[in-house]
Amino acid sequence: MRRFRFLRDPDPAAIGDSFEAFLRWLEGPACLFISGADDSRCRAFVTLLHGNEPSGARALWRWLREGERPAVNLVCIVASVTAALTEPLFTHRMLPRARDLNRCFRPPFDDAQGRLAEEILELLRLHRPEAVVDMHNTSGSGPSFAVCTFPDRQHDALAALFTGRLIISHLDLGALMEISDHRCPTVTIEVGGRLDDAAHRCAYEGLCRYAAVEDVFAAGIRERGLERLADPVRLELRDGVSLTYAPRPCAGHDITLRPDIEHHNFGSVGPDVVLGWTGGVASRLFRAVDAAGSCAVDRLVRIEDGELRPAQPLKLFMITTNAGIAQSDCLFYAVADDGQPIAA
Ligand SMILES: [Zn+2]
Repeated sequence: MRRFRFLRDPDPAAIGDSFEAFLRWLEGPACLFISGADDSRCRAFVTLLHGNEPSGARALWRWLREGERPAVNLVCIVASVTAALTEPLFTHRMLPRARDLNRCFRPPFDDAQGRLAEEILELLRLHRPEAVVDMHNTSGSGPSFAVCTFPDRQHDALAALFTGRLIISHLDLGALMEISDHRCPTVTIEVGGRLDDAAHRCAYEGLCRYAAVEDVFAAGIRERGLERLADPVRLELRDGVSLTYAPRPCAGHDITLRPDIEHHNFGSVGPDVVLGWTGGVASRLFRAVDAAGSCAVDRLVRIEDGELRPAQPLKLFMITTNAGIAQSDCLFYAVADDGQPIAA
C-alpha cells in the first residue's frame, strides 16, 4: 500500500497544468502543508476520500496555482489519488474489493483502507487543526450541503462558509466527521454532483474563504441563515433485493425507481408523488432505522397498487440514481417536511 507523501509549500509552477497532471504529480495519497500568515494555528482540508468525487481536489489544485498564502497553516490531505487515476478517470469510488474509505475511521484498521484512514487520523492528531473540512461530491446531481454530527455554533459557522444547508446526523458509520468535538469541529461538505460546474465553483469559492478568513467560526454565519435538517433516516435495501431505474415498471427487478427521482433532492415530496414501482411488501424490501433504533420503513414509504410513494410529507436528499450505491449504501436520506426528525 502507498503511504502518504508529504509536500511542504509546493511551487505553484510545479504542481501541473491540469487537474489530472496535479494528481499524477501527487502519485498517491498526499499531505500538503501550506504555511500561513499566522503559523501558530492550523486548519485541515481533507478531500478525495472517494476517487470519483474530484471537486475538492480540483479546487485545491486551482487554489494552489494562485499561490495565495492562507491566513493560518493549512494541512491538505488528498487521499484516494490512485483510485481517482484508475481508468476511466474519476469513476472509482475506491479500488475494486477495497472498503469505502469514509467508513474506515474507526477500528479495526487492519486492511489497506483501514491503515490509510488511521494514517489520516494520525496526521490530524499531529497537526491539531482548529477545524477540519472533508469535501465530497454527491453521487447524483443536486445542491450543496454540509453534514456534521455535533450541532453547535462553530459547526454552523464552518458549514456556512461553504453552503446554506446543514444536516445534523448521529449515524454511526465510521465517517471522518464522526471524530468531531468542540476542540476540533469537523464538517463534511457535499458540494454537489461530480460533473456539475456549480459543484466545482462551490468547492473552489468555499476553499478560498476557508483559507483566507481570519476566524472561521465568525465568518459565514452572519451572512445567511442556515437551513437545518435533523437526524435523517436512511432508506436501505434489504439483502438480495434487486433495483433498477426506469420510467416504467421493469419486469425482472424487485423495485423500479424513476430515473428522475434525484430531482426531489431537498424538495418536499408528499404521498401524491410516485417514486417508483414494486410488486413487493415495503417491510421485506427496505430497512430503515430511526434515531431511537425503531424501524421507520412504514413512516417513509408505502406501496399502493404497485406504486411506491412517500408515506407522509418528507424532505429527501442524497438520492442516488446509481443502483450499485443504492444497494451498497442507501437509496436516500429523509427527514420530515419541516426539517425535523421523522416522528415515531
Ligand atoms: Zn464521498
